[in-house]
Amino acid sequence: MSSAWEAVRALASGFATTFVHLFRKPVTEEYPEVKRALPARTRAVIVLTRDPDGGERCVACYLCSAVCPVSCISMQAAEREDGRRHAAWFRINFARCIYCGLCEEACPTSAIQLTPFFETCERDILKLVYEKEDLLVDHQGKDKEYNFYKYAGVTTDVGGKGEHVQEDEPVDLRSNLP
Ligand code: SF4
Ligand code: SF4
Repeated sequence: MSSAWEAVRALASGFATTFVHLFRKPVTEEYPEVKRALPARTRAVIVLTRDPDGGERCVACYLCSAVCPVSCISMQAAEREDGRRHAAWFRINFARCIYCGLCEEACPTSAIQLTPFFETCERDILKLVYEKEDLLVDHQGKDKEYNFYKYAGVTTDVGGKGEHVQEDEPVDLRSNLP
């Protein structure tokens, strides 16, 4: 008799819990209809940005590719007639990318940058392989002013060491000796 009573009590308690939850505000959100605000430093899809003068920032130095922990960046370096380097082709496999941001940190020209855009789901995994034409954008991204070629990309006969824009005086190595 007591076990029957315990069963009834357990059943009633279960129904009571269900009944209470009927009137609770749902904690789930109906994505994609409801989109919550992302944290300011959200990192997702990668782009290749341009200099303020419109030129491609990427000089195909391979640093991003070398630092990438999952080896999802590949490219082929090429050189224009005026000596300016660029990537003949540039590829990122977003099916492997873990959005760690190391490529952006390694990039000396501010070319490669992560954006907050993350909605890239595809049924066909090969569509997650982005080519240069998919990655190259017509703006400077987070770094509006920086122009690598204005500082370090061109040879100049004007001025000696330490006399160029944002260049320090050469260090006398002997002054560092103990
Ligand atoms: S964010 Fe990380 S994993 Fe993705 S391409 Fe850059 S270095 Fe590789
Ligand atoms: S994106 Fe930056 S780090 Fe990667 S190859 Fe181009 S210049 Fe080098």
